[in-house]
Amino acid sequence: MSKVIQTIDQMKEFSKNSILSKKSIGFVPTMGYLHNGHLSLIKKARSQNDIVVVSIFVNPLQFAPNEDFNTYPRDFEKDRVLCEQNGVDVIFYPGYEEMYPQNYQTYVEVSFLSKPLEGKSRPTHFKGVTTIVLKLFNIIKPTRAYFGKKDAQQLIIIKKMVEDLNLDVEIVPCEIERDIDGLALSSRNVYLNAKERSQAVCLKKALDKAKELIDAKIYDSQTIIKNMKDVINSYDLARIDYISINSTDCLSELKEVVLGKTLISLAVFFGKTRLIDNMWI
Ligand code: AMP
Repeated sequence: MSKVIQTIDQMKEFSKNSILSKKSIGFVPTMGYLHNGHLSLIKKARSQNDIVVVSIFVNPLQFAPNEDFNTYPRDFEKDRVLCEQNGVDVIFYPGYEEMYPQNYQTYVEVSFLSKPLEGKSRPTHFKGVTTIVLKLFNIIKPTRAYFGKKDAQQLIIIKKMVEDLNLDVEIVPCEIERDIDGLALSSRNVYLNAKERSQAVCLKKALDKAKELIDAKIYDSQTIIKNMKDVINSYDLARIDYISINSTDCLSELKEVVLGKTLISLAVFFGKTRLIDNMWI
């Protein structure tokens, strides 16, 4: 039975007792509406720790006023069952007032890594992410925390925050889970209508094209990006936000792919729905 905890005090008490009895805590932060991507993180956490804590909190701070905070899909009852089926010990499910009481005014920002890629389209997003993740780390005190490579920049930024602020938590990266046609799983995929859903596979197709070129030893970024654009543009409902080739350490743009150190990422709109995907080379 997964225990649902809604207050910070109770969550801290639970973690304190776990740590006193020398139990390791694996933590999976989520915004809920769980799918197999989330579950793969939970399964990994389950296999590596004594206790597994999943947080479910749609964090208003990481949404801009024009974004989908109000319509973001939520289904706590279904999430609770999925957590239970996957051996989660605690679901931390706080309310908004609990996390951001009136007069809340402290924020954490990883400055440079938050600027490019997603940061260009969503300038306040990562400040919201790092602030909530640091709060959750302080409340839950995990031994290990699990993040999907699906949100590559987020993972890189969290690692940097942990390094810069000397946090005692091991960050565990997890592979991207995909649907059978290749579309990366995302809670936002439910926004797609049938025609958009069938075309949404173009992100993965563009990444496959990049991989094909790199396998043929074509490393020039402009050539790769041009080919990826051609793939996306052959789908009439897709509108490219960005396609970029960056180094995985400092996220600077690369003129050429460097094997083992390159992130190829893209964001594509279908109507109002914005999908992201990436590949680590
Ligand atoms: P979210 O609920 O979207 O904030 O995601 C919570 C965590 O699940 C983040 O670390 C995501 O990177 C991860 N995640 C989301 N989708 C996937 C996926 N398709 N494969 C692997 N991890 C994912």
